Amino acid sequence: MRYVAYGVFTIFFSLIILPSIIVFGFNFHKTFSVPSQEIKLVDNGKLVKLEDTSNYKTINVFITNQNKIQKMDLEEYVKGVVAAEMPAEFEMEALKAQAVAARTYALSKEIALGGKGCELHPGADVCADSEHCQAWQSEGELRQKWGENFDKYYAKISQAVEDTRGLVLVYDDALIVPAYHAISGGKTENSEDVWQSKIPYLRSVVSPGEEVASKYKTTVIVSKEEFINKLKQKEPSLKLDNSNILTQIKDVERTQVGHVKTLKIGNITFNGKDIKEIFDLNSTNFSFEAQGNNIVITVIGYGHGVGMSQYGANAMAKQGKKFDEILKYYYTGIEIVKIEDLLKIQH
Ligand SMILES: [Zn+2]
Repeated sequence: MRYVAYGVFTIFFSLIILPSIIVFGFNFHKTFSVPSQEIKLVDNGKLVKLEDTSNYKTINVFITNQNKIQKMDLEEYVKGVVAAEMPAEFEMEALKAQAVAARTYALSKEIALGGKGCELHPGADVCADSEHCQAWQSEGELRQKWGENFDKYYAKISQAVEDTRGLVLVYDDALIVPAYHAISGGKTENSEDVWQSKIPYLRSVVSPGEEVASKYKTTVIVSKEEFINKLKQKEPSLKLDNSNILTQIKDVERTQVGHVKTLKIGNITFNGKDIKEIFDLNSTNFSFEAQGNNIVITVIGYGHGVGMSQYGANAMAKQGKKFDEILKYYYTGIEIVKIEDLLKIQH
């Protein structure tokens, strides 16, 4: 009897809620908003019997804007994800890396959760909502988005998916959780610094070449009054003087990469994530500055910073690196296998 252990899911996710495992979709296209919802992977706690992978050639996708579940070919689904999650202008090898990550994510939800992958939509393995599972766009939506470039871009994305057909990422004989994000800010995060759980393949690595991204560094400017009001909406008991606000911001605890874990503002301790949500920041790697009557918040990077940096992947591809090298760089110690070969793993 052959089994594939999805125990890794159990180990990492049992009773643990991983906040937005996946993605920060690209915000060039406003349709891909920043996911803030938490993804819960239920504890299935079992080995999944995999005698036949033919079941996994299709996937049930909840199409959010049509409010229906559609069964589709897995590879066709992956095309719609790559097209939605990464700019088509990116290098071919980066698109291929994205295709393998997207396929792995979809399959992990499909297999490990056996039809309940997207807990928001019963019967669906995944949904097309980037705030919950991963973004997906239909051909119609892509025609609209790409206009006259549709044929060229669709052919390019299709090639990236075809060239990696059936390939998925595994660690310790189990599918991985292929977290990815847009821009790390120069170095990716260790998983435990962001989500508490130490995941062996989600290790911090330097991620050069991201600076070309227009959203590498962004600023949000709010008046001092607005700054205080917004914080008070979240924490009504906040005490913060309008004068010398910066001196009342203390104990800023950062990850080694620079993302804010916690900080004290006035009498209240906030999580970096709270501040990110309150001021709609692109990441938790932020700093404050006072300018006249305003507070300027400078933000580095885009997304949670764990796993593959999409801009970093593109920079590697520009340097001639292949998709497998990119994936092995951002996911420490993983292997790339064909879905069919999952059958050959003996337990
Ligand atoms: Zn979902």
